[in-house]
Amino acid sequence: MFHSAVLRLTIWYLVIIMLISLFFSVALYNVLTNELNRGLRRQVVIFHSLPFAGVAEPTNELENQINESKRNVQLNLVYFNVIILVFAGGASYLLAKRTLNPIEEIHDAQIRFTADASHELRTPMASMKTEIEVALRQKDLTSSETKEILKSNLEEIGKLEELSNGLLTLSNLQNVNKKEFFSECSLKEVVETSVKDVEKLARNRKVTIQFDLTETRLNGDQSSLTQLFRLLLDNAIKYSPEKTEIKITNFLKDNFVYIEIADQGFGIKATDLPHIFDRFYRTDVSRSKKEIPGYGLGLAIAKQIVETHNGRVEVASTPNKGSVFTLKLPVH
Ligand code: ADP
Repeated sequence: MFHSAVLRLTIWYLVIIMLISLFFSVALYNVLTNELNRGLRRQVVIFHSLPFAGVAEPTNELENQINESKRNVQLNLVYFNVIILVFAGGASYLLAKRTLNPIEEIHDAQIRFTADASHELRTPMASMKTEIEVALRQKDLTSSETKEILKSNLEEIGKLEELSNGLLTLSNLQNVNKKEFFSECSLKEVVETSVKDVEKLARNRKVTIQFDLTETRLNGDQSSLTQLFRLLLDNAIKYSPEKTEIKITNFLKDNFVYIEIADQGFGIKATDLPHIFDRFYRTDVSRSKKEIPGYGLGLAIAKQIVETHNGRVEVASTPNKGSVFTLKLPVH
């Protein structure tokens, strides 16, 4: 599909370039022939004003030379246009490819996204369906068994809810102009709220969160910023062994505040680092450790929030030592 689009765009570019080239060639040819004709007429007038008697008029010879010059010009212009056609053909193809490349990437990402989302939605639904089918086949289902099934179904519904919330958040961040809701907010307040939100999870995993921040005013959407820290802290807790520590620090540089969230967790392999912000990407560690829940949407949402705030997020990590996520946000 994209190959034929590239070819069609190439033809359009080529047609435009050739029309321009032909237009200038015709114009150039007209100007040159007019000048040559004018020169010929001037020569004839000069010749008649001279007192030559009995000398043959050189008009025919001059005319022949001029006609030959015109033919030469025509030939050169044809050569010139053929060269333009060849070079412009190649250049148009490259240009068309470059123009359509980002669209192709978006298209591929969209297909991947739909496939991944359907896959993630299917897993809990299939599990619920099987449980209900098995239960219906049983003739004497006790009330405690029924409760067990309902409990398990509720868990799966919770996962579906989490997934649809994540997808909705991503779509909102991409489509709604959050900048309209921007206001001055305090970094300390944002971090404190998000730490409170993950307190229970941290306590369960015996992970402590320390923060030592210099107060900074940010221009942004307070609830999105709180969600951003919540997502990063949630990951730092999830992907850390028990009895470890998470540190949040910040410093100011060139009108930007840099906030570092450092954990002592499992870390991320260098080969995974370029992909962890992609939607639905989960490393082998998170996939193999069944007890670590998630859909690989958290960091995609985090990145989207940072970009909405004209910032950047980077990560440095050493497997089995820990990771440091650095946020760069413009100060108010
Ligand atoms: P989820 O946590 O739902 O799997 P995320 O998008 O939040 O999805 O993270 C993507 C992947 O990046 C995770 O599956 C995990 O493998 C890795 N990751 C993210 N944060 C950390 C961290 N602090 N330490 C180690 N690995 C992490």
